[in-house]
Amino acid sequence: MKKNFVLFLVLPISLLCVACGKDAEPTINEKLNADITVKDGTNIKNIIYVIGDGMGFNSIKAGELATNTNFAFTKWAEYQSNTNSLNDKGLDVLITDSAAAGTALASGTLTINGRIGKDKEFMDVETIFDVAKTVNKSVGIVTTDTINGATPAAFSAHANDRDYSEEIVNSQANSEVDLFIGNYSDLYETNKTLFEQKNFTYSKNLNSEILSKERLIINNENMSPYSEANSLRDSVEYAVDYLSKNNNGFTLMIEQAHIDKASHSNDFNNMVRAAVELNKTLDYLIDRFKDQSDTLIVVTADHETGGLKVSPEMDLKNIYLQDDISFAYEYSTNSHTTTHVPVYLNQDIFNFVNLEDNASYTVIKNIQIARGMKNLLLLNKK
Ligand SMILES: [Zn+2]
Repeated sequence: MKKNFVLFLVLPISLLCVACGKDAEPTINEKLNADITVKDGTNIKNIIYVIGDGMGFNSIKAGELATNTNFAFTKWAEYQSNTNSLNDKGLDVLITDSAAAGTALASGTLTINGRIGKDKEFMDVETIFDVAKTVNKSVGIVTTDTINGATPAAFSAHANDRDYSEEIVNSQANSEVDLFIGNYSDLYETNKTLFEQKNFTYSKNLNSEILSKERLIINNENMSPYSEANSLRDSVEYAVDYLSKNNNGFTLMIEQAHIDKASHSNDFNNMVRAAVELNKTLDYLIDRFKDQSDTLIVVTADHETGGLKVSPEMDLKNIYLQDDISFAYEYSTNSHTTTHVPVYLNQDIFNFVNLEDNASYTVIKNIQIARGMKNLLLLNKK
């Protein structure tokens, strides 16, 4: 009898304490549910969202060491991003795949691995492209992957799983995206009429004569993720030429997919080449938009791949040696990791929520980027 009485007394007190704590300090989820605000006086017309698939801080460091340079974009405002996706209990604790991470980066909604533009309840999410269209911007995608790859698909389609290619292609043809450029896939050659029925002009190369057409899908059979000719940089130049025709501005997503692809097989040399090509693309964008303070460029990753370490001291398992450049590197896995990824912004315009109490760097959740961009786009409605 006495025991029951004690239990009865303890329970309400503990509930009361939980409620007290909650009132005093909002949880991370409550903080994230608040809008990520845009700093006063911001005036942005164009958004360029650059995603290095699988790119951690050390993928960038490796590219810098291999070229004996500092990549210009690493001097920008820098944040660290937590990339975990949801498990089946709805907790953000799982090592993400590119589908869930792409959906988070495109929409500001966390989801379960495999989902393309769908939340954990299989509902379609609203992407930054959807919002950009409501303020009459042009939207486009450039990727070194095929156009149905998880990252480009997350920005342009809704499908229950990344492997449902036909569902993704159908969804993309019915989307409002103005421009697709990706590595060649038979899937788009087979389905080109589907796109032509929606006013897309289909091409297998970067044909400058079709730049004036209403909508474009370039199923690029010459695209190289690395080389000087037909590189990512060339496709991006073509995309910017096309999208700049709209006086209301544009939103462009660029993906270098091959940092991830090379890292999965711990192919360090190709990982370096992919990172270097991404930097060349950014150097091109920095130069092209140097006089335009109305263009926001964000560089980030969907997750880190490989658990890569690099060191100018020769104190790791493997040695990179090209001409007179050498340094050490080591992978710890051939999968994705939970390592925080970098976020760089050419203009530090968002008030992000810091997930960690750390004064020397700010850790954000990946979904904060798209939430900030949506708010930024909505400023155009005024
Ligand atoms: Zn991957």
